[in-house]
Amino acid sequence: MPNGKLLVLDGLDGSGKSTQFELLAKRLEAEQIGFQRLRFPQYEEPSSALIRMYLGGAFGDDPEAVNAYAASTFYAVDRYASYQCVWKDYYQGGGLVVSDRYTTSNAVHQGSKVPEGERAEFFHWLYDLEYDRMGLPRPDLVVLLDMPVELSEQLMRKREQSTGTHADIHERDEDYLKKCRDVALHAAAYYGWRTVSCAKDGAIRGVEDIHEEVYAIVKSCLED
Ligand code: ADP
Repeated sequence: MPNGKLLVLDGLDGSGKSTQFELLAKRLEAEQIGFQRLRFPQYEEPSSALIRMYLGGAFGDDPEAVNAYAASTFYAVDRYASYQCVWKDYYQGGGLVVSDRYTTSNAVHQGSKVPEGERAEFFHWLYDLEYDRMGLPRPDLVVLLDMPVELSEQLMRKREQSTGTHADIHERDEDYLKKCRDVALHAAAYYGWRTVSCAKDGAIRGVEDIHEEVYAIVKSCLED
């Protein structure tokens, strides 16, 4: 039995990723396409303990306090646990897996800590670690939602108001978010991700409009 497919939706915080992920899941259900959904990090699971310590500031309030390689391993371990305990059989049996974030988030969030000249080396190391060494599945498709930081900050404030949550150490730092956006676009070019621009003429595109573009890309991957 050939492996299934792994599709990943990623984007910086405030890119509208959760909204788009929900719409994509609903659309696949409506089209009667069976799939298993995943979401990383798995904050409720013990495998995310180091991530929770890191984001909560246990190793320092500045995200730079933990280097890109160390922080990446926290997230990689969480994905390893999920693969082994949750979706390995389904995926190896030919199932479709759709994930809200994956290794791709490490590239974006941790890659910004690495000097530009060393970033390609980091990107190479990251995929090698998770896919070649740890044996996690390589995505068949990565869709990156790209949103200018000024607009993503508006969405984050909106989410804080509606959920009563507060920004974590990454989300609070605007310069860091700007750098992350540049790195995200660099990673997309390096790895060959599909980028969907969520803004047009300086304004955020409508939720449905973005969804249609995302779904068209997903559909063509499923038909491959
Ligand atoms: P993320 O998961 O990327 O942090 P969310 O999907 O949680 O972002 O969106 C943050 C807030 O912005 C939510 O209140 C959501 O309803 C709203 N939102 C998401 N996408 C759009 C959009 N295209 N236009 C307007 N509001 C949006």
